[in-house]
Amino acid sequence: MTKSQIELDELVTVGTLADKLLIPVSTLIMELMKNGVLATVNEKIDFDTAQIIVTELGLDIELIKKVRQTETIRSKKDQIVGEHAPTRPPVVAVMGHVDHGKTSILDAIRSSNVVKSESGGITQHISAYQVKHNNRIITFLDTPGHEAFAAIREHGAQLTDIVIIVIAADDGVKPQTIEAIRFAQNAKSKILVAINKIDKEGADVNRIKQQLSENGLTPEEWGGDTVICEVSAKNNIGIDKLLDMVLLLADIEELRADIDVPARGLVIESHIETGRGPVARLLVEAGILKTGDYIVAGSIYAKIKTLQTTDNQTIQEAGPSTPVTITGLKALPEFGDQFISYKTEKIAKEEASRRLINSSKNDTKMNLGSTDLIRLINRNNSLKELNVIIKADVMGSITSVVDSLKGLDNNEVAVRVVSSSAGQVVENDIYLAKSSNSIIYGFNIDISKHIKDLARREKIEIKTYKIIYELIDDVKDKLSDLLAPEITEIMLGKLIIKGIFKTTAHEVICGGEVVEGKLSFPATARIIRGKEELSEVNIVNLKKGTVDAKEVIVGDMCGVSLKTDQKLVLEENDQLVAFRREVVARKL
Ligand code: GDP
Repeated sequence: MTKSQIELDELVTVGTLADKLLIPVSTLIMELMKNGVLATVNEKIDFDTAQIIVTELGLDIELIKKVRQTETIRSKKDQIVGEHAPTRPPVVAVMGHVDHGKTSILDAIRSSNVVKSESGGITQHISAYQVKHNNRIITFLDTPGHEAFAAIREHGAQLTDIVIIVIAADDGVKPQTIEAIRFAQNAKSKILVAINKIDKEGADVNRIKQQLSENGLTPEEWGGDTVICEVSAKNNIGIDKLLDMVLLLADIEELRADIDVPARGLVIESHIETGRGPVARLLVEAGILKTGDYIVAGSIYAKIKTLQTTDNQTIQEAGPSTPVTITGLKALPEFGDQFISYKTEKIAKEEASRRLINSSKNDTKMNLGSTDLIRLINRNNSLKELNVIIKADVMGSITSVVDSLKGLDNNEVAVRVVSSSAGQVVENDIYLAKSSNSIIYGFNIDISKHIKDLARREKIEIKTYKIIYELIDDVKDKLSDLLAPEITEIMLGKLIIKGIFKTTAHEVICGGEVVEGKLSFPATARIIRGKEELSEVNIVNLKKGTVDAKEVIVGDMCGVSLKTDQKLVLEENDQLVAFRREVVARKL
């Protein structure tokens, strides 16, 4: 059966959502509360929260994010924004051939215009920063390598609004210049050309304009639409004009971003810092990012502990186009990962796990061999899965462990590797284990005290091994536990009914002779007539003559009281077979 689909806006009021889901508002509010979101009927929740709630409520509904048409406009950067979205600063990257002066131009811009921190000055190399020109903010990205830009492009994001292509006036267009132009065109960024080193002898601006025209960038003064600025980074000539042009292009582009949406953006750098743990630089694209926000970057969860400008000035919030440095991440997100903030810690953590599971599912899909496919097809609904997360010292170990585990599957039970990666067990693994109900198996790794404590608190089992077959044996034991136990019946004794003394709705008193084994009570028995099994009864009393008997054996004549679920009409020569059920655990 296909799921019913409901279209939702990015933000929806609790009342509207309840209406659409056809559930009482109170049910929805309660479910939100369970998930840590306190929202009244008129308050708005975001799409992702709605999605989690639908899953938690077990509704067979697929939510689809609506592309707002009536009240939206498309900014020049192809971003869908709300009608009232305020303008945002342009995000600018400087690219070009090596030695043509990218760093010098950025330094020239920074030295006179940078938004200075209270602690003063910029000393370290930073990946992004903001400058103020004519009282307006411009965000600059330090020229990352081309592969890094390619990574961003892969993630479907269009980070840079404007690319300044730097060309040395004494050298001209070079292969890397062309590559930078292609990049900017592919990214649909606006191009601004800075012809640098005009102070130098041998500078030939006209030759460069000619080369640019040959490459499809005809200068404005030659009737084209490429803005060209002549500068000297060394002598600080034309830099202000260059910034004027950046702002002019930004105005033409009408760059805007919503601020009343959950904060989102991209990871532009990440590293580990002693004493601070994982640190990431983020570029906010929309919404307002605040200290204390719960975010998921890639599949990494964070409660933002500190929020700083890229020159270490502590701030409480950051709006669109702002580069920020954050701490509080559970692990390192990757360059180009998208981040988004969530209303509650619970939802953020669940989302992080979901993304991790999805990424591991995608990996599985890619690696799915034909035998796996057959196994998937043959899976029946009663298949019980043991979810595991594998962590090992090196990738090679992971392959051996995962391959060995695959060999354990059968039609009844299977191992599902929720995630596998090389390295230590990190907090994210614990949260993933919690949400996916997995056991973490570590091979050739040690577990830190912090992680052990966290695992204990979250009730997650982590098992570490140094010998592969011991690990496999443990998984085998766990799988065996999942196998439905075998139930066997042991016959205790048989009686042939000779007379029926009393029959009521739920009770029969009869008499007979024990022909096999012995009968005792309480015990379960079956009534058999000829070859047919009539019903199951309980022996509740035994009598030899008029005296109660604990048990009766072969050859004994006895009276038997039986309790039944439904009225049972016994006949002479019916058999009463007493038995005991035994549950036997099975082993793989
Ligand atoms: P990048 O590799 O593109 O970042 O280039 P750099 O900024 O490192 O500059 C390369 C060289 O060109 C350095 O020696 C700079 O001092 C020099 N340079 C940069 N801009 C100018 C300029 O406007 N005029 C002159 N004469 N030299 C410059």
